[in-house]
Amino acid sequence: MSDHKNTPSLDTLFAQANGAIDPQTGGVVPPIQSATTFVRDEANVPLSADHIYARDDNDLVRLGENLLNRAEHAEAGLLFPSGMAAVVAVMRTVPNGGRIIQQTGIYWGVTKWTRDFCARRQIELIEVDCADLEELRKVATTADVLWIETPSNPYLKTVDVAACADMAKSAGALLVVDSTAATPILSQPLDLGADIVMHSATKAINGHSDVLAGYLGCRDASSHIWEMIVTDRHDAGAIMGPFEAWLLIRGMRTLPLRVERMSSSALKVAEFLVAHPKVNTVLYPGLSTDPGHQIALRQMSGGFGSLLSFQVEGNKQSALTAIGHLKLFKRATSLGGVESLVEHRHTIEEAVPGNLLRLSVGIENATDLIADLNDALAQV
Ligand SMILES: *Cc1c(COP(=O)(O)O)cnc(C)c1O
Repeated sequence: MSDHKNTPSLDTLFAQANGAIDPQTGGVVPPIQSATTFVRDEANVPLSADHIYARDDNDLVRLGENLLNRAEHAEAGLLFPSGMAAVVAVMRTVPNGGRIIQQTGIYWGVTKWTRDFCARRQIELIEVDCADLEELRKVATTADVLWIETPSNPYLKTVDVAACADMAKSAGALLVVDSTAATPILSQPLDLGADIVMHSATKAINGHSDVLAGYLGCRDASSHIWEMIVTDRHDAGAIMGPFEAWLLIRGMRTLPLRVERMSSSALKVAEFLVAHPKVNTVLYPGLSTDPGHQIALRQMSGGFGSLLSFQVEGNKQSALTAIGHLKLFKRATSLGGVESLVEHRHTIEEAVPGNLLRLSVGIENATDLIADLNDALAQV
C-alpha cells in the first residue's frame, strides 16, 4: 500500500494522522480549536495569515483534507458537512441548460437530488447503466458531467473508471467518481483518469457511525471547475464544524485497519451466502463469478470493501423474515461502520427487488457474523 518511495504507506500515514502532534504542548492528538474568529495585532495584521475566520480556516478540517488528499493522490481536496453537500458542490457547477450523464442504480439520494435539480435548472439528465460500456457508448454525447459510482450501492456493480475517463474526455465532460464503497484505501480513481473523486466520509472514512461528512478530491487544482467549487464552499459556507472534524480524524486513524478487516470478512460472508441453499444471488465484486470481478481486480487493491447484497430465495416476505431474525447485524441504513448493518432497501426504494438485502460488514468476528446469517436464513 506504499504510494511513493520514501513516503509512508497509507496505514502509517493514517495511524499518525499525518504527524498531527500539537506543536504547543506536544500532545499526540491535535487540539480542537473552536474559535470562529481570530485577533489581529496592534498594526491590524492577523497573528496568523491562515487564521482569519473559521468558515475556511479550521486546522482540523485542513488536516482531514490533507490526509484524504494523500490517500487519493489528489492535488487538492475539500471536506463538506455531509456526502450530499459534496455531491451538490460538483453538480452546482453545471450551467443552466447543460447536460449530466449519470449512472443508474446508484445511491438513491444522489439520483433523487440530481433529478430534481436538473428539472429545476433545465439541465438534460441522461441516466444509463455505466457498468455496461455498450449502453454508455450508445448515449455518447457532449456533457458537462459524467457521474459514476463504483462499486455501486446497492447493486455492487463495478464501473470501468479508465474506460469512462476516455469517454468523458471525448464528451468534454468532467468524470466524477463516487468512491464511497471503495474507500480511499482500496482504490484511487484519480490515478485512473477521473477528474474528481467523491466520498461520503460518513461511511468507512469515519467508520463509527457518529459523524456526517463528505469529501471531494481533484486531479487538477487549477481547473476552472475546481476553482468554482472552492469558491462556492467558502462563500456559500458548506463547512464542517471543528468537533466533527476532530471525530472524523480520530476515526480515520484506524481506516486502513478497519477496511482490511471488513473487506476480508465481507468476502467470507459473500462466499458463505453463495453456498447457502436459501440464497439466490450474491452481489459482491470480490467473488470470482461476479461480472465486474476482472475490472475490480484492476482498479482495486487490498480488498473489495464492506458492502454486499444478496437475494433471498422467495419473495419480499422471505427477506423480511430473514432480517427479523438477525441478532448481530443491526437493521439500519448506512454502511462502512465498525458494526454490521443490514437493510431491506425495497422498504425505502421501491425499484429495488423485495427479496434483496444489503449488508455492511463491520469488524466483528466473521465466524459470529456468518453464524448469525445462518440462524436467520434457517427461519425462512
Ligand atoms: C451515504 C452515501 C452518500 C451520501 O452521503 P451522506 O454523508 O449521507 O450525505 C452518497 N453516496 C454514497 C455511495 C453513499 O453511500
